[in-house]
Amino acid sequence: MEAKIPSNFIKNIVIEDLQTGKHKEIITRFPPEPNGYLHIGHAKSIVLNFELADEFKGRTNLRFDDTNPVKEDTEYVDSIEEDVKWLGFDWENLYFASDYFEEMYQRAVLLIKKGKAYVCELSPEEIRQMRGNLTESGKESPYRNRSVEESLNLFERMRKGEFQDGEKVLRAKIDMTSPNINMRDPIIYRIAHATHHNTGDKWCIYPMYDYAHPIEDAIEAITHSICTLEFEDHRPLYDWVIQECEMESQPRQIEFARLNMTNTVMSKRKLKLLVDEKVVDAWDDPRMPTIAGLRRRGYTPEAIRSFCREIGVAKTNSTVDVQMLEHFIREDLKPKTSNVMGILRPLKVVITNYPEGQTEILDAENNADNPELGSRQLPFSREIYIEQEDFMENPPNKYYRLFPGNEVRLKFAYFIKCNEVIKDAEGNVLEIHCTYDPETKSGTGFNARKVKGTLHWVDVKQAVPAEFRLYEPLILADDESDRNFLEQINPNSLEIIQGYIEPAMRAAKPQDKFQFMRHGYFNVDPKYTTKEKLVFNRIVSLKSSFEIK
Ligand code: ATP
Ligand code: MG
Repeated sequence: MEAKIPSNFIKNIVIEDLQTGKHKEIITRFPPEPNGYLHIGHAKSIVLNFELADEFKGRTNLRFDDTNPVKEDTEYVDSIEEDVKWLGFDWENLYFASDYFEEMYQRAVLLIKKGKAYVCELSPEEIRQMRGNLTESGKESPYRNRSVEESLNLFERMRKGEFQDGEKVLRAKIDMTSPNINMRDPIIYRIAHATHHNTGDKWCIYPMYDYAHPIEDAIEAITHSICTLEFEDHRPLYDWVIQECEMESQPRQIEFARLNMTNTVMSKRKLKLLVDEKVVDAWDDPRMPTIAGLRRRGYTPEAIRSFCREIGVAKTNSTVDVQMLEHFIREDLKPKTSNVMGILRPLKVVITNYPEGQTEILDAENNADNPELGSRQLPFSREIYIEQEDFMENPPNKYYRLFPGNEVRLKFAYFIKCNEVIKDAEGNVLEIHCTYDPETKSGTGFNARKVKGTLHWVDVKQAVPAEFRLYEPLILADDESDRNFLEQINPNSLEIIQGYIEPAMRAAKPQDKFQFMRHGYFNVDPKYTTKEKLVFNRIVSLKSSFEIK
């Protein structure tokens, strides 16, 4: 069992509510709007809601907050379900806010009857202008004091489709002089002649978020309705709706800081723009901070959950360094993955004193820290590939890799010494010639002399061609508020390289993960990998400058 969510102010509220008997059982919900794919910010909310309820033997619903017909789509519904499950969570019930449209309508009728709501015929622009601002109070609508009967009649006709979009709205009658602008007769229903992904053309009026959300929570008897900080000023309205709609159950809204991350845009609207503008190839592009993108990149649910717990739950917004997320995937993959050899930029080495036509099979342990991962077979013969950067003809000081006259160790194999550099007419290095020392075979305990460099390599004859996709941050700026984030796109966020891997890796399947020596952790891409060619996404390099305290 993994660690629990560390103590935080929301958990303390839950503990108190259980101790005082205010609630016998905790019910939370995760309420995404199906207008895009989930991102790592949503994961923070998912982990918090599900793990909090789990810890206190409560329940969590997955609820699609689908009250805006224009932007929502069943593709998003499906992806959200898949992503929540993949993260490792089981919801108690799956609900659609749109299933509550009739009840929401009836509660609105109740508000009108109580004199707490009215149909307003001002244009959206007029409503905005008359709302006032932080220093000026609002002006009352001329429709504010129309009779209950008239509002009831108009609201019914709105439902029947007798009016155009924007012609009329239903507003809560609260207080145009309230210091809280959200309480200045907010719109609670609007007309939208649009087909809804769930209810089709049944409705042409739709409830606004601030009205719908508290009713959804109350219908499901949610005890703690956890949302992000920007809804703090909406809480009085949330409580007003619960109260005036005479909901039986009284959920409590609690706000926490949303996750922001360096070099990352974290809003579905912006992420959708990246997809629509073809900056990325899809919602699951490995550069995207979506759950689907992280999965395809090679992130594991365990790493994402650990990250979400570690960043904690606070009352003030801050920005988390993306390197912290990278830290957790390294921690997770280190003991789980085989350490294999892949050559990204090959340079051929001919071992001139190794018998032609001979191949020997070496034994290579998969993970020095985890013997359970066993070992694999590694062919070795006269020609191998090494990394171009592992050879220099004229090396600087403290270069311990291969150069003329120098000896290095080949991982799992022998010491080799460079004797000759073969070049073309332009002076480009074509291949290098080395000799090996048969006495130095790995695992034989040879220790007559030490070498400083150890190189990874792949046997030429049996090397398997592979594609490596290396990633840099997609966004250069850290500032989420930057409207023009499309201008901050990193033009070098993807580098595609053709290289070679060891033959044992022919068996790799999509989503298999490996540590390639020196290059970092890689995932077999599920979309681009074919029978003919393995495509690897670099999840993360081996090291970063970031230290977890
Ligand atoms: P976006 O702006 O990306 O569309 P949203 O808040 O509108 O985000 P919803 O689908 O309404 O997205 O969010 C579902 C839940 O996820 C909400 O409870 C919301 O508070 C939470 N959530 C969304 N983004 C973050 C984030 N960056 N950090 C923490 N929680 C988040
Ligand atoms: Mg939203």
